[in-house]
Amino acid sequence: MSTVRNIYFRSRLKSCNYHCSYCSFGKKSSVVDWEKEEQSLRLFYEQISLLTEPVRILFIPYGEGLIHPYYREVLIRLSLLPQVRGISCQTNLSFSPDLFLEQIKELQADRSKIKLWASFHPEMVEPETFVEKVHGLYQSGLDVCVGVVGHKKSKATIALLREQLDKRIYLFINAMQGKTELLTDEDLACFTSLDPFFLFDYRNAKADMRVCSGGRETVFIDHSGDVYPCPRNPLKVGRITSLSSLTEPFCRKERCDCYIAYSNLKNTPLAQMMGEGGFFRIPEKRKVEAMFFDIDGTLTDGQGKIPDSYRDALKLLAGKIPLYLATSLPFDLAKRRLGNLFLLFTGGVFADGGHLCYNGQNEYIPLTPLIPLPEIDEDYYIREYQAENGVYKYVIRVVLSESTEQIRTLLGDRYNIQEKGSVLTIVDAKAGKKNGLLTICSKMNLHPEKVVAIGNSMNDWEMLSVVGYPCGVIEAEKGLRQSVHYILNPDHLPLFFEPFSDGR
Ligand code: SF4
Ligand code: SF4
Repeated sequence: MSTVRNIYFRSRLKSCNYHCSYCSFGKKSSVVDWEKEEQSLRLFYEQISLLTEPVRILFIPYGEGLIHPYYREVLIRLSLLPQVRGISCQTNLSFSPDLFLEQIKELQADRSKIKLWASFHPEMVEPETFVEKVHGLYQSGLDVCVGVVGHKKSKATIALLREQLDKRIYLFINAMQGKTELLTDEDLACFTSLDPFFLFDYRNAKADMRVCSGGRETVFIDHSGDVYPCPRNPLKVGRITSLSSLTEPFCRKERCDCYIAYSNLKNTPLAQMMGEGGFFRIPEKRKVEAMFFDIDGTLTDGQGKIPDSYRDALKLLAGKIPLYLATSLPFDLAKRRLGNLFLLFTGGVFADGGHLCYNGQNEYIPLTPLIPLPEIDEDYYIREYQAENGVYKYVIRVVLSESTEQIRTLLGDRYNIQEKGSVLTIVDAKAGKKNGLLTICSKMNLHPEKVVAIGNSMNDWEMLSVVGYPCGVIEAEKGLRQSVHYILNPDHLPLFFEPFSDGR
């Protein structure tokens, strides 16, 4: 029985209607033998129609295929096969979306099975025109990812493209390893803020057949019907006519040096974050019930400001998914820090869990027993936050770092104590961000395994560890980045998560 689940396919086509300066398949490239081209597509279609197990297909032409009606038709006809669970094609999107959608309608295909890997070429098309086409197709029910080459000179254009694109559509930036100029730390930070996976593409990965699905679950089939582990590995493993009996794959490559190679490695953070969507380069969207956000260093940048792209993402998410805060800040300060955005949140965990707000109610968790003021060798500053039922949080600021240890020892484990530099925050043992989140989940009938929480420091980990989707921002502390499942910024959340009742 075949174990092949994912197929990359390349027909004979080697031509393109564009002529990008960084590509060899532009208008000047060789003209294809159309008869043989159609033969290779026919052979591919016939063999796929004989498969009995579910497969997904990605067309990776040398050039542009979707400008040709026959190419579009084969793709749509393949999507009609019940065993084809999804099909996509790399394209420059220069074809007419209206004609394509018309063809899909005529053939009565299911739009949700058809996807596009659309590359933007700034030399050839204006961002506005390209984005309009992407949105038209996306709104019509086709999943799309958008790609662009990460040239330094294109940074502003790429940022504009990201700004104009629907926040639910993934924009990837191709690092073009070794073919372009050296990128500075600033370039890397810029591209990573736009594409959370940029560094994977920039560094790519060591080739390792022990963790590679190539030649087993995933194969590359060329126009002649020969089968390979991936498009970068020339060691043939069989024929299209015998996908159920491929030979054991072998790889002599040092590195999996492009996305279509390294996305086959099963042990990477990329695979974990992309999920099933990795094959099509469209992140798998997990359905979630709520999101919890830390504020300082998570929603705010180094200057304490909330970037515009985060604001836009929060506005988009708030209309679909309940948003909560989970912060060490007291309620009033959190409100001031967020300004108008505060209204987007339906409640939260404030003052390190000493104060909870949900369903229009406030709940304060007083410290019991009340804190005995510690006797230590230096003067210290202490601030208390009080509600009607008692003090729910203390902040103690000391000068000498030894004093924090002294205070911790004096207070023992009766309280929940967080330490940041010379500042200790103290709440009741029953408080804390984790307990606050769990209380809100319980009161609001939310399932923690269907909840997202995002933070930036190891102090957040206790809270993040109890949700199904723990996220750390790209600039998070190293320990947190090593612990979470997702490393992304708040404006990337709509790429990975959606409400249970989605509607475009
Ligand atoms: S659109 Fe793609 S295939 Fe065509 S010339 Fe540009 S880079 Fe090459
Ligand atoms: S180069 Fe291809 S076959 Fe080799 S390890 Fe990478 S993905 Fe697998």
